[in-house]
Amino acid sequence: MIEKIRKKLTIGYTLVIALILSACIIGSYFLYRQKGIGFVRESLNDYLQEEVWEASTQIRAGNLEPEIYDISFSISSPYNFSYWFLDKKLIHAQKPNEDEFAQILLRRLTEKEYQTGKIYYENFKYNKQKWYFWVAKQDLSIEGRPPAEIFVLFNYTPIRHSTKNYIKYAFWVIIATVLVSYLLGNWLVSRSMKYIEIMYQKQKQFVSDASHELRTPLSIMLSYAELLEYKPRDKKLISDIKEEILQLNRLIDNLLSIARYDNHKILLQRERFNLSLLAKETAASVEQTFCRPGEITVSGSKNVVFNGDKGLLRQLLYILLDNAVKYTSENKHITVQTSESKGGVKIVVSDNGRGIAPEDVEHIFERFYRADKSRNAEGLGLGLSLAELIVGLHGGTITVSSILNKGSEFTVILPQNLKGK
Ligand code: ADP
Repeated sequence: MIEKIRKKLTIGYTLVIALILSACIIGSYFLYRQKGIGFVRESLNDYLQEEVWEASTQIRAGNLEPEIYDISFSISSPYNFSYWFLDKKLIHAQKPNEDEFAQILLRRLTEKEYQTGKIYYENFKYNKQKWYFWVAKQDLSIEGRPPAEIFVLFNYTPIRHSTKNYIKYAFWVIIATVLVSYLLGNWLVSRSMKYIEIMYQKQKQFVSDASHELRTPLSIMLSYAELLEYKPRDKKLISDIKEEILQLNRLIDNLLSIARYDNHKILLQRERFNLSLLAKETAASVEQTFCRPGEITVSGSKNVVFNGDKGLLRQLLYILLDNAVKYTSENKHITVQTSESKGGVKIVVSDNGRGIAPEDVEHIFERFYRADKSRNAEGLGLGLSLAELIVGLHGGTITVSSILNKGSEFTVILPQNLKGK
């Protein structure tokens, strides 16, 4: 599946990048062409007007002897030529100095019907090369004189070649662009996929752990229920079943909380409250249920005010204190300390319990991770994951330091949200 997503994303990225770059190249080509055409049209018209003015002056003055000027030219220079006809006879020409070529142009002008006010695209083959011209014509009628026709021609072969070259280069640039886009897309996808892959594996692991954890109490209950058929009055069996149901309930509750907190689906119900007091109340409740009096001490400042979700912070304190109690067997000495810290608040929960082995420390915040893997272990392996999510929702950090057989210390730092959001 991950491979499929990777391929799809790479193709998607490549296409998008290539399309954008190609659109830029093609767009700039059309812009360049449009501008070029506009410029040539204008200069061709200006040139035609100049010729018309000159022709009318000369025709009026009666200078009707043919005047022919030979212009040396090359295919790579944008030359203009002009022809004047009076009563279909050539009276003036600025023509190419090569006769054969001049003849070709002349033939085209006399054989084809050109209309005034239009611009014509013409091409001729000469010297094994194709020549491109723009042609404009204007009719001229002067009183007392036969009708005249003025032609101007503009050699746009070099422009045409340069646009052709542009297209050729643009083609290679687009090919290179697609290649670069592919490499870039691949690199981008690999980077983002690494993270997605880790998340996907984690999610997969979580689903398989969760199904395992859900199935175990169910199979136990099933076997207890089968036993009940033979010993319907066995009170121990009934209370074991109840215990399993409670365990299942806790597991489902925790799973639901994880799903909600993990997707950031909950909106923090922020309020300003006395965190020291909350720690005191939670400690008292845990002590009353699981410890002997005096086993949990609350210390630190008494008036640490925090702006956060009180319900979630109670749950956080409960998880840390519950663990401290669970993993400390005799002579419990558990402390919870609240204080102000730079820009926020600090909660430290420490115990003198069994501690955590260094190889386990880096895993204890993972879902379903238990240092003691046996089913008789005290917890579900979800408490610290929940604690980490709660801290994360408040933008804080949770760390642990522990010495095996000596005890553990969990430190939570939460930034103060003074805006009250
Ligand atoms: P659990 O429900 O198993 O306590 P947690 O996520 O709260 O799940 O804790 C994960 C594991 O971290 C525990 O199984 C335990 O091995 C270890 N642990 C957590 N808190 C303590 C502590 N105060 N002392 C020793 N070990 C702890």
